[in-house]
Amino acid sequence: MEGCLFCKIAGGEIKSDVVYQDDRVVAFRDINPQAPVHLLIIPREHIPTISDLREQHRELVGHIFLVAGKLADQLGVAREGYRVVANCREAAGQTVFHAHFHLLGGRQFGWPPG
Ligand code: 5GP
Ligand code: ZN
Repeated sequence: MEGCLFCKIAGGEIKSDVVYQDDRVVAFRDINPQAPVHLLIIPREHIPTISDLREQHRELVGHIFLVAGKLADQLGVAREGYRVVANCREAAGQTVFHAHFHLLGGRQFGWPPG
């Protein structure tokens, strides 16, 4: 979608530190990391929020979680544990309205989140 930051990152129009990509998703390092490992996994398709996911995205969401698991393993945080977070809309702190999943690892996380 025109004007969308993450569409531009997915299209390579804006540079990012990409660690994985395929025909459906791109994973890149967050510009403001909140943990030693902090990736954003995004669908190439412009979907504004996870509330906009539909039946047609069922396989895509499964793929995103499998990619998250593989990347956590590759980056060495799978064994100790990691977190996958999707913030949906304002109350959850979503700031970029192209659905994305944060993969965070390499430190201890508190629960419940603030
Ligand atoms: P949200 O708050 O919407 O869940 O997460 C958006 C994330 O995108 C934030 O963690 C923020 O640091 C990250 N971000 C914002 N702009 C950029 C950018 O231009 N490049 C990268 N790599 N990450 C960004
Ligand atoms: Zn987009």
